[in-house]
Amino acid sequence: SREVHLTENFVGEIKPDYFEIEEVEIAEPKEGEVQVENEWLSVDPYMRGRMTGVKTYVEPFEPGKPMEGGAVGRVVKSKSDRYAEGDYVFSMYGWREAWTAPAKGLMKVDADLLPPQTYLGIAGMPGLTAYVGLKRIIDLKEGETLWMSAGAGAVGTSGIQFAKAMGAKVIATAGGKEKCDLCRELGADAAVDYKATDNLAKAIRQAARDIGSSGIDAYYENVGGDHLQAALDVLKQYGRIAACGMIARYNDDRSVPGPSNLVQIVAKSLKMQGFIVMDHIDLNEAFVKDLSGWMMAGKVTSKETIYEGIEKMPDAFIGLFTGENVGKMLVKV
Ligand code: NDP
Repeated sequence: SREVHLTENFVGEIKPDYFEIEEVEIAEPKEGEVQVENEWLSVDPYMRGRMTGVKTYVEPFEPGKPMEGGAVGRVVKSKSDRYAEGDYVFSMYGWREAWTAPAKGLMKVDADLLPPQTYLGIAGMPGLTAYVGLKRIIDLKEGETLWMSAGAGAVGTSGIQFAKAMGAKVIATAGGKEKCDLCRELGADAAVDYKATDNLAKAIRQAARDIGSSGIDAYYENVGGDHLQAALDVLKQYGRIAACGMIARYNDDRSVPGPSNLVQIVAKSLKMQGFIVMDHIDLNEAFVKDLSGWMMAGKVTSKETIYEGIEKMPDAFIGLFTGENVGKMLVKV
């Protein structure tokens, strides 16, 4: 069985050399343990922080050890009364084809209800992240206008659809025409290709006028840099920002100056709050209830980009930073 290790901790651009594939033996399960074959592996932008060797809100990855990450797999051997062979489980034992571990701490997923990989996307961590940002951090109201950045990604495609289901108007930004078309297909009232404009603030204002909106009430921040700068410019008085991520910064090898127009926070009485999804697990019950309702009403669908084979994990991960994905980036084992 194969697994992916990090060769060293690093800052700056991500290179394929930082990853190596190792062949390992999978232990037989002992009492209370299960053996699982992963079917779906997740790559997520937050993993970049774990590669730098510095402890943030999660422990850094250790070079020479299997990396961790979200995964969904099938139980193939069970010595636990919690799981039967054939059950699907979510675990953090990603970046590997198979594993044996205590059944305690795993989460059963219902693969009859939804395709198993959706538990890594819209029905999993990225979906909950979009929900928390909109419901709790922004407190989005019907009729308001939301700007969703990285709109064609995992959080973005979820967030666009959730915000529409909540009765808001949505302007999405994404890199490239195809991604913008997808955002509109998912319900965005307007989509702006940030790569095709040299004045993002102006393009967002124009998009707002085009959809008959009086301006931007809330900004969902996934990108940072020029996006945040533009958001501070275009937000209305009392606008809210959910700071979910700033992916444009994760590969920087030195600290860079912040937005030069930060004073807009004062001038327009803006409110900006960051959050880590794991601190808002209490919202999961409401999330599952709303998501099921929206899915049954046909208001929400799952978008995914799938790479095949564990050897593609580094490419899939690097691809998050070059925008290779639409929807949730996944690797099928
Ligand atoms: P995505 O599926 O959105 O993939 C990343 C996307 O970001 C790419 O497809 C690309 O889209 C865009 N991107 C990459 N580099 C840049 C850049 N330099 N400038 C502008 N855009 C860029 O990933 P996720 O949905 O998983 O994550 C989205 C954001 O949410 C990230 O910032 C992540 O860190 C954050 N997050 C935060 C969580 C929390 O708890 N706070 C939990 C989960 C995610 P394009 O081609 O359109 O540029």
